[in-house]
Amino acid sequence: MFSLMSSAPLTLLDRFAGRTEHQPMAQVAFENVGKEFAGPRRERIAAVRDLNLTVADGELLVIVGPSGCGKTTLLRLLAGLETPDSGSIRLDGRPLEGVAPKDRDVAMMFQHHALLPHLTVFENMAFGLMLRKFPRAEIAARVQRAAAMLNLTGLLERKPGELSGGECQRVALGRALVRQPKVFLLDEPLSNLDAPMRLQLRMEIAAVRRRAGATMIYVTHDQAEAMALADRVAVMRDGAVQQAAAPLELYQRPANRFVAGFIGAPPMNFFAGSVERNNGALLFRGEGGDGWAVPVEARQGAALSACMGQPIILGLRPEHITLAGAEDSACRVEAILERVETTGSESLVYLSKGGGGFVARAPAAFSAAAGQSVAVCFAMAEAHFFDAATGAAVR
Ligand code: ADP
Ligand code: MG
Repeated sequence: MFSLMSSAPLTLLDRFAGRTEHQPMAQVAFENVGKEFAGPRRERIAAVRDLNLTVADGELLVIVGPSGCGKTTLLRLLAGLETPDSGSIRLDGRPLEGVAPKDRDVAMMFQHHALLPHLTVFENMAFGLMLRKFPRAEIAARVQRAAAMLNLTGLLERKPGELSGGECQRVALGRALVRQPKVFLLDEPLSNLDAPMRLQLRMEIAAVRRRAGATMIYVTHDQAEAMALADRVAVMRDGAVQQAAAPLELYQRPANRFVAGFIGAPPMNFFAGSVERNNGALLFRGEGGDGWAVPVEARQGAALSACMGQPIILGLRPEHITLAGAEDSACRVEAILERVETTGSESLVYLSKGGGGFVARAPAAFSAAAGQSVAVCFAMAEAHFFDAATGAAVR
């Protein structure tokens, strides 16, 4: 297998990356951007709604969200392939309104790489520069440098039909790289690859970007890929950013139930119920089942005492629900075992309680028969609470 990080000479890569040259600033700002499309029956589809987001110079921002939430539209707006209906987009403070796509200093790599089948790898990578009338020697130098960076040097004379899927993706990345843009836009660049190739290319993209020092906006629907790559992750839903934060911040302090459920696998468990007072302390009482309750940590008491008696959602990640020992009492909850899946390093224990299901993590050796009662312990110090009506985090 190729490996850019271990085998390529760093000095060459650094020179390509332009560290010796002046690296232009590239800060991106979306301000109240809106974009609608007309649907097949002339209905209006709001692809992007009043969206605000800034990307710092040199940052790798990953946009993640379910299919159809507006990720591609957002990139196309920045690249100039679509025009916003409202709001503005700035590159280094300069509004992009009226600036043609080719003058934007933004290179986009698409989900479907669309290499030109009759051109060689070299020609595919050189194509954009030829259109821009770069001098031949400059084109050759840039393509050679990008090819070295992506381990494509031996493939420059091949045509796309003679390449593997991963090699095609690297050529598509090289095509964006040779432009040395201020901002790289990558739209699900790994979505057509098998799992090992995804992992390999993901590491290469991270390395290329570190060396190029360029601002990068990377779109994916895969939350694990987002967490692994990003300096910061922006979670989108229905055309708007729900939360933009560093991966760990997003995981530990989700702003709402959607973000909490989207980031992390298996996802966070949610329990409907309400908070009540019991001898001065607060309890979360779960809906359904046997009237089960767990104590609320004192530090969360102030925020929760305002929602007393109202419907509220308790959120707990699978790693914060563990098999109870004999000594765990207050946080103990009895549930019915549905099934156990092992990953090899641990087991995922699927349980049910009062009609709802949830997942706990257990040691790999754990085994028990379906249908039996299992006691688990809720690590309430790690509990999240969400407003049942709005989904907003209560803190
Ligand atoms: P994502 O990339 O997150 O999957 P898109 O940005 O492609 O989402 O699409 C957002 C919404 O806008 C979707 O409902 C999609 O069907 C719609 N949409 C995107 N482009 C067009 C278009 N050219 N015409 C009509 N609807 C579109
Ligand atoms: Mg898309």
